[in-house]
Amino acid sequence: MTKTKNTKCYYCGSEDFEERRVRYIYSRENNDLFIPDMPADICLNCGMVYYHGSALLKVEQRFKAIQKHQEQPDRYATMPVMDYAS
Ligand SMILES: [Zn+2]
Repeated sequence: MTKTKNTKCYYCGSEDFEERRVRYIYSRENNDLFIPDMPADICLNCGMVYYHGSALLKVEQRFKAIQKHQEQPDRYATMPVMDYAS
């Protein structure tokens, strides 16, 4: 497994991390955006999950974009599935 650089767990102080794809739900203003493969670093010692800042930013931007262009509320209920693996 790939180790990420110079990260230290805020909770247990461990430096052993593993990058994985996890499920993430961004919630704001009563709307949810579901991301099935959010990149994150998992602490191998305590299991704490650290999301990547860049990925979080992407999600937020995507969420805002969807909201701006939202014309049919029905679309929202389907919770768009996106690929953030890149
Ligand atoms: Zn930890």
